[in-house]
Amino acid sequence: MAKKVLVFAEARDNELRNVSFEAIGAGKEIAAGGEVIAVVVGENVGSLTDPLFHYGADRVIKVEDEKLKNYTSDGYGQAFIQIVDSVDPDAILMPHTSIGKDLAPRLASKLDAGLVSDAIGIELEGEDVVFTRPIYSGKAFEKKKIKEGIILATIRPNNIAPLELDESRSGEVFEESIKIKDLRTIVKEVVRKSTSGVDLSEAKVIVAGGRGVKSEEGFEPLQELADLLGAAVGASRGACDADYCDYSLQIGQTGKVVTPDLYIACGISGAIQHLAGMSNSKVIVAINKDPEASIFSVADYGIVGDLFEVVPLLTQEFKKV
Ligand code: FAD
Repeated sequence: MAKKVLVFAEARDNELRNVSFEAIGAGKEIAAGGEVIAVVVGENVGSLTDPLFHYGADRVIKVEDEKLKNYTSDGYGQAFIQIVDSVDPDAILMPHTSIGKDLAPRLASKLDAGLVSDAIGIELEGEDVVFTRPIYSGKAFEKKKIKEGIILATIRPNNIAPLELDESRSGEVFEESIKIKDLRTIVKEVVRKSTSGVDLSEAKVIVAGGRGVKSEEGFEPLQELADLLGAAVGASRGACDADYCDYSLQIGQTGKVVTPDLYIACGISGAIQHLAGMSNSKVIVAINKDPEASIFSVADYGIVGDLFEVVPLLTQEFKKV
């Protein structure tokens, strides 16, 4: 049966996140010929609606309110409850980002709905929507379905392909008038830490450094390679603990979980807690001077050598391409 699917199109700094398009793609699968409605929320989001159609949304709802300029679970929670009330969807999809991870459980509890978090795949089994999600830090996968009520799920970035971009697609934008009661928390300013412009959790390529990088300056050749590849720089907790870089770059069990197309691990031993955050990357290249390093057990390509020789050589070669 065709379904009505509501997709939260998340924007940051007035730019839509790629995972929003991936969630629309996932929504199309679930809708099975039904309608995918993308919702964009913020203070001034009018310019963000076109790409949502280009990636497959059938309808776009925009919600503008100065109280929604910065994310708060209170403000966005109030907005979404009203949108769900007016749209009456069969399913709601959100990006598995820090916002989605906060908002989805709040919504699930208010709507008395089941929630599948961190979905990396979707299949239809008759009327049922079956989600695949990783468990045990990515060592196994489980399949889950919500048997009753609204289906609510968060979608992990970089796992479900978006629809092909089609700039000829367009549609109608609806402005939802909602009432946001006074917020209990007001975000005055958001200060972001990042060494490059590429968002780590959505990056297609990541160059990550570990304790083997040896110093803050040791990250410079990695940054140079990353800039050339349009990649994000990440790190092990070893590198963060040693103060070579900021904790916002940490990948792993207690850091970010990433699934880029290409992960280049430089001077990272491959502790289980690090692998928990990156072992589902599509292609892993490991550079380590210790041939016994555990990182080689998950690597598709391993280079045994000194990263300070290998990384500049890679940069040099990529410059020729
Ligand atoms: P090391 O283990 O010291 O490895 C450095 C590697 O660099 C070595 O393999 C060495 O051979 C290589 N090397 C040295 N010099 C060079 C060179 N010149 N060229 C090439 N290779 C070189 N860790 C995480 O990463 N993320 C997490 O989220 C995380 N969460 C944790 C949660 C808990 C509860 C605990 C207990 C630990 C957690 N850890 C996490 C820490 C984890 O156990 C490891 O200590 C950490 O990942 C090690 O970082 P590393 O690989 O950079 O350092």
